[in-house]
Amino acid sequence: MSAILKLGRARSAWGLLRTQKACMSVALPQPNPQPNIQYNKVFINNEWRDAVSGKTFPTINPSTGEVICHVAEGDKADVDIAVKAATDAFKLGSPWRRMDAGERGYMMNKVADLIERDRKYLAELETLDNGKPYNVAFSTDLELTLRCYRYYAGWADKNQGKTIPIWGDFFSYTRHEPVGVCGQIIPWNFPLLMQAWKLAPALATGNVVVMKLAEQTPLTGLYIASLFKEAGYPEGVLNVIPGYGPTAGAAISKHMDVHKVAFTGSTEVGQIVAADAATSNLKRVTLELGGKSPNIICADADVDMAVEQAHFGLFFNMGQCCTAGSRTYIHESIYDKFVEKSMERALKRSVGNPFDSKNEQGPQIDEEQMNKILALINSGKQEGATLMAGGKRAGDKGYFIEPTVFKDVSDNMTIAREEIFGPVQQLMKFKTIDEVIERSNINKYGLAAAVVTNDLNTALQVANSVRAGTVWVNCYDVFDSCAPFGGYNMSGNGRELGEYGLEAYTEVKHVVIKVPPKNS
Ligand code: NAD
Ligand code: MG
Repeated sequence: MSAILKLGRARSAWGLLRTQKACMSVALPQPNPQPNIQYNKVFINNEWRDAVSGKTFPTINPSTGEVICHVAEGDKADVDIAVKAATDAFKLGSPWRRMDAGERGYMMNKVADLIERDRKYLAELETLDNGKPYNVAFSTDLELTLRCYRYYAGWADKNQGKTIPIWGDFFSYTRHEPVGVCGQIIPWNFPLLMQAWKLAPALATGNVVVMKLAEQTPLTGLYIASLFKEAGYPEGVLNVIPGYGPTAGAAISKHMDVHKVAFTGSTEVGQIVAADAATSNLKRVTLELGGKSPNIICADADVDMAVEQAHFGLFFNMGQCCTAGSRTYIHESIYDKFVEKSMERALKRSVGNPFDSKNEQGPQIDEEQMNKILALINSGKQEGATLMAGGKRAGDKGYFIEPTVFKDVSDNMTIAREEIFGPVQQLMKFKTIDEVIERSNINKYGLAAAVVTNDLNTALQVANSVRAGTVWVNCYDVFDSCAPFGGYNMSGNGRELGEYGLEAYTEVKHVVIKVPPKNS
């Protein structure tokens, strides 16, 4: 039995997120909540191996707190072997280095075909390991993942250099070459998508990769590795290590033979990764880190639309989004109405088993995150914010938290400054646009911002004035592989996605050839 993904409460979130009409007609197959686990080992040289240490770690189902399976716990010893495999795969004259750029594109499209074939299984596995609602995993995560691989497949034979008219009798041109061995460290909030954002540009441009998966969500990333093998990628081009950050992750950032590290996760760990890169071999670093994004609701906003959009911008993915609109600034003239409707909307948000498509919200990723969020909720109460909805753990099994709304939040409260990464909405009041822009920018982060208004001048003023890598006007969380994403300030370095995303994986080489004067 299948239902068309146009149904139920999931529609509002999806309706706001969708960027192309095509997704709306994808049939949603009935899930199997107990998908078979096929891969739980380290993937090096197209082979599955136990960790050198022989150790394993449990991956947990966050809906129940139960162990799904044990996974090989890679660490420095495994990273060393993987880097050696990647280095060999990158040697001059290797099958990968000799492969035509267009062929690399075809292969990546083949991977996308295989993901499409296994879309239902991958969505089930993502929901089991991560806890996100199955209908969102299937329709949003898988759709964006597919588009990302297909988008960069198209770039494989288009990342070209230039000829340059330098002074003198010379022929001058640039070559866009791969950087080499790329270390990639990804988080748990969008496991498949974050993997795609990293692998697709790196491999389309001819690099080789050693990737560390998040310890909370290793399962889909390992399955994807098997699809790269099936698609025909040569040995050593992609190596995937499940394991912990301070061991396997740090071994990548510190490695002397890794040429570049790309990291997504907390700002705190981003600083460690950058420091490790600097003090080892000065490898290149790109970072996608935290955020505390302002969402500015102006006096002329359609309140119902703005409430729904702000709700989605915060609660989507259980609030576990680096772009979460976790500082909602509302004009004082509509504040009370907005608070009332936001509270009603949060109280209606259905929380529970993520395999049941009536639920909009699943569990937080793990016990540690759940406790951190509950502590931040307590700080909100203690520092004087007014709790309008939620505020507690939901149930006593798994890591669910009630959709939580605070009003009367001021800028100096911890919940207005720190990234909560959970279903906790802060509603703040403003009087003037100049004031709210200034307040938006008083923050260590700078990932995203949004404004809801029908006034073009206000929209442009906000778009031009906020220090953020992405600004959404009358929309939220609109992502597309074609468009760049990244942060100002402590939200990161560099950009992923789009043409800009190629830069992180490209070395530009300048070649100058002396030309006999009579031939110039
Ligand atoms: P984290 O930064 O610890 O983990 C992200 C990745 O980094 C994981 O793969 C982890 O194993 C790895 N890592 C950890 N320590 C490392 C080290 N010393 N060297 C190299 N790699 C290392 O994030 P977390 O502890 O899972 O979550 C904590 C907070 O981070 C969240 O509450 C949230 O604020 C933020 N976060 C942000 C994102 C994002 O998309 N920007 C994603 C996940 C978490
Ligand atoms: Mg898990």
